[in-house]
Amino acid sequence: MHQQVVIAGGGPVGLITALGLAKQGVDVVVLERHPHVIQEPRAMTYHWAVLDGLAKLGILQDMETEGFRLHEMCYRVYHTGEIIKLDISAVDDITAYPYAVVLGQDQISSIVLRHLENYPNAQIRWNTEVQRVEDHGDKAVVHVSTPNGNEQLTGDWIIGADGAKSRTRQAAGVELEGFTWPEQFVATNIQCDLEAFGWDDCNYLVDPEYGAVIAKITRDGLWRVTFSEPAGSTEQDLEDRIWDYYRQVFPNINDIELKLYSSYQMHQRVASSMRVGRILLAGDAAHLTNPTNGFGLVSGMMDALTLSQTLSAVIHGKASDEILDQYSDERRRVFNEVATPSSTETKRLVFHSEDSDRLEKDLQRLRNLTRSRKERAKQLSIGQQLLTPGQTNSSSSPKIYQPREGIVARNLRHNTLRCARELSSWRVFSNCCSFRLAMSQTLS
Ligand SMILES: Cc1cc2nc3c(=O)[nH]c(=O)nc-3n(C[C@H](O)[C@H](O)[C@H](O)COP(=O)(O)OP(=O)(O)OC[C@H]3O[C@@H](n4cnc5c(N)ncnc54)[C@H](O)[C@@H]3O)c2cc1C
Repeated sequence: MHQQVVIAGGGPVGLITALGLAKQGVDVVVLERHPHVIQEPRAMTYHWAVLDGLAKLGILQDMETEGFRLHEMCYRVYHTGEIIKLDISAVDDITAYPYAVVLGQDQISSIVLRHLENYPNAQIRWNTEVQRVEDHGDKAVVHVSTPNGNEQLTGDWIIGADGAKSRTRQAAGVELEGFTWPEQFVATNIQCDLEAFGWDDCNYLVDPEYGAVIAKITRDGLWRVTFSEPAGSTEQDLEDRIWDYYRQVFPNINDIELKLYSSYQMHQRVASSMRVGRILLAGDAAHLTNPTNGFGLVSGMMDALTLSQTLSAVIHGKASDEILDQYSDERRRVFNEVATPSSTETKRLVFHSEDSDRLEKDLQRLRNLTRSRKERAKQLSIGQQLLTPGQTNSSSSPKIYQPREGIVARNLRHNTLRCARELSSWRVFSNCCSFRLAMSQTLS
């Protein structure tokens, strides 16, 4: 069986990439080792900066129908009880979507699968595990195991969207550069009416011992509580430790039903390249961040939106395959320069606020943000820098990525210039410009 594109991994990034490609007439097959979409307590909040791309892909409306809009983030200091709320709508000058969207990543996958049913050029093969990938120069070969035996598929291009332990990445000989955090996160889903006890929809509980992200997942009382544990914590007695934690943080709440939990190691890592010959990487296969900011899947979605545009341009002869090297350079750059530093900073504030002077400075900065809409907009626009300059939408008539007429051109210019100024780096500046130019020339 030969396909234009074979995608290893039917997680949210693999599926979104498939939808972007299918919409542009590319033949694509997704290989997923599980028999269905997997359910784990993972991503649930999607930054406003990615919503325009998802709207153009045609899935935002369904996401908002099944999930809900988040308009505010709330910082709570555990020991003093201070509450600082940041209103996200401050970015309404720069986007038509001045809010985050909340829903489980498994629901996003299910929505994308429904949309993929409209495209006969897209196939999903469940129970199909990628064992090995080989680049033969003129084509790539994927060896899979299925319940009916082993098979080989060939493709013009292989996309590894097969998560943190990506076999595709390993086959391409690509290193995951960076480090692993010593502590681990415990993510739990609970059924409980935390709203009735005064909790906001999205809370950062700031404390060196009991720091947590506590956020509503569904309108009918499912909540996520994610807290941190020291290095070396074992799976044994994890459930007991979870209940100890709830007793400390929710002392007056008895009616908690623990639905799902999992512990995760956290990393700040990025692939040394997201393109090797005919093999491309996206999502967690390419980069990993601690999830405090919710930038993991958001970055992966931005990879998916950019990659489906650039790769279909190459396949349709509108761009040379060099644009895929630029995809790799740009996505790695924004991950290293935006996702990692800002996620690390938020993790420090929420989970490691031991230094009281520094905490007071952090809190003062947050208090100031509540008073200045302009400063708040500046702070909240960090996620926009995760976008690749020149990122295009996934509609059938590709144009420069454009959340609202005139705004993006201004923002891109502004971001590109600021980026060049702040980093004093002509290389970054010229890469941004050439990628943007290449994208606009080939796709318009
Ligand atoms: C506690 C927690 C909270 C998070 N919260 C957020 C958040 O709010 N916002 C956000 O943006 N991000 C968040 N993230 C990060 C987010 O979950 C990941 O970035 C996201 O899952 C990446 O999607 P993916 O499709 O790249 O990889 P995955 O979701 O890991 O999907 C990979 C898929 O590939 C399949 N696969 C793997 N190997 C093979 C193989 N050999 N053959 C075939 N199939 C294979 C897997 O079964 C899986 O379906 C959070 C993460 C955690 C742990």
